[in-house]
Parts: sequence; structure tokens; C-alpha cells
Amino acid sequence: MPSTTNTLTVYITNRDSRCDECGHDLGRHAWITLAGQGRAVCLACADLEHLVFLPAGNTALTRRARKRSRLSAVVLKWSRARKRYERQGLLVEDEALTRAEEECTADAGFREAKRQRAVVRRAELDEEYLARFAARVRELYPNCPKGRETQIAEHACRKYSGRVGRSTAAKALDEDAVRLAVVAHIRHTETPYDDLLVGGVERSEARACVRDQVAAVLSDWQH
Ligand SMILES: [Zn+2]
Repeated sequence: MPSTTNTLTVYITNRDSRCDECGHDLGRHAWITLAGQGRAVCLACADLEHLVFLPAGNTALTRRARKRSRLSAVVLKWSRARKRYERQGLLVEDEALTRAEEECTADAGFREAKRQRAVVRRAELDEEYLARFAARVRELYPNCPKGRETQIAEHACRKYSGRVGRSTAAKALDEDAVRLAVVAHIRHTETPYDDLLVGGVERSEARACVRDQVAAVLSDWQH
């Protein structure tokens, strides 16, 4: 069973922010991590955007999801009224959350919790946008295994519907943006990249290790 070896902190900002790594404007209420010397880094650059958000409130589900997730991040937001950071929830691996939900559902009395979570998920995913994104992936990567376009689209939609505005979401259908989403998916699912990170390898080094592998899969999916 994977244990949590790596807990990170993600902050929801109060003011307009910019990623110090990729230079993108993140808008207000952006989700960022802090690198050395107070540098703000967006979740894409920090390689955390494959994680899904589990809002605080369900203790059993949170505990289980955290335990199942090799990589997780506590999400904090500054409360002006209380003048302190308040915990909003947890970012965890999608599979860990699914398994945690299954475990909770197996316990009688947790059916309601699962129903509530399903409601949150549906709200997060704009069905129409999801279908368009998936179709775009399939169009650009006709050889990608069946069902992957939906997985990739779901991650993209969670990211764009919950965290950034519509105009940014529209940009996500650009060929470049779709390619980045596919590359991130390949890195996390088709290479040992996550294991390297969990094992403490530096992000840039881990990326370099799997670069050729990612390129090979990408080219395979494209033709
Ligand atoms: Zn960035």
C-alpha cells in the first residue's frame, strides 16, 4: 500500500498572480505552490495538475484518500476576516480518491457521502466542454488508446472549470494546450515519472529521464 511520503502545500491566492516559472498570468484566486525564495509556481509547472481536489468536510474520505495517494497537497486559503490560513481541502491522485470513495461506500452509512461527492464532481465538470475537449484529443491523437481522451479531458475540465475563467478554458482547446495536456497524461500514466518524483528525484531531472519515452508515446498516438 502506498504511503504518503510527500505532502505539499498549495495556496489559493488573494490577488492577481503570475507563475514565476512559465510566466503565465494566473488571475485572481490562482492555485499556486511556493518554490525557493518565495517564488510562486503554478500547478502545471509544479506538476500537480493531475491531482484532483477533495473539499474538506468528509474526514473519513479525506483520511483514506490521503493514505492512498502517493502525492498529495493541502490546499490553504488566507482568511482576511480571521487573519489566518484556512484549510480548504486536499489535492490527491484521482485513482486514490476513487479507491477511497469505494472503501467508504463499502461501509454502510457512507453512501450519502458518496452521493454528495458525486454531486460535487458533476458540478465541476462541464459536460459539453468535456465532450469537446475529448473530441479534440481524439482528432489530434487518433491512435491514443480508447477512453484516454476522456481521462485527459476530465483532468483538463476539472482544472479549467474550478480554477480559471472561461476564456482560459477556451484557449485550452488550442493544439498546443491539448498537446501539453496529453504530454502530462503520458508522463503520469506511461512512464515512471511519478515514482521518480516520489523517490525524491528533482522535477527537472525526472522530466529529462522520461523525455524520450514521452516523445515516443506521443508520436505513436499521433500516427
Ligand atoms: Zn507555470
